[in-house]
Amino acid sequence: MGEPVSRVFVPSVTEDDGGTIGLGCFSTEDTAWQVLRAFLKKSEQMLLNSCSVVVWDVDIVGEDAMTVLSTMECRDCPVCGRRTFWIDVDNFSALCHGSACSAWIEENTVDPEIIDCGWPTIRFLKQNKSIEEAVESLFKLGDRLKAVGEERMSEANAESLIEE
Ligand SMILES: [Zn+2]
Repeated sequence: MGEPVSRVFVPSVTEDDGGTIGLGCFSTEDTAWQVLRAFLKKSEQMLLNSCSVVVWDVDIVGEDAMTVLSTMECRDCPVCGRRTFWIDVDNFSALCHGSACSAWIEENTVDPEIIDCGWPTIRFLKQNKSIEEAVESLFKLGDRLKAVGEERMSEANAESLIEE
């Protein structure tokens, strides 16, 4: 017999039309995040608005039983343009879950005043002063990629994009 479960972790996503999809309830936060991340990989096939992980204490009546651990909003990706860019505004981080993109934003591990952003495909990396500026940097990268045409994106072009 295991320990009785005293709290459960519940990941869910909200669709554009306001409907909520519950992804199950789990005994550990880790599992809840794994399930949510696996689901977000499919987010380019649907129109999603936001997602969250909520922890519920069992056998407690009312609002006190519920704590929102994290909320993320879904936007159009600045780089690939798909609706797969998940922003965690509270933690200054974002990641595109679209296949073969993975554009990202993270708080700098050394200096929290700096917000890093990047695009692994061409090892693009830039430091910014705010999450808005980081999003803006990724938009500029996306615009340049469109101008170049992704198929014709040679090594040389990639180098010049990084240097600018
Ligand atoms: Zn993307």
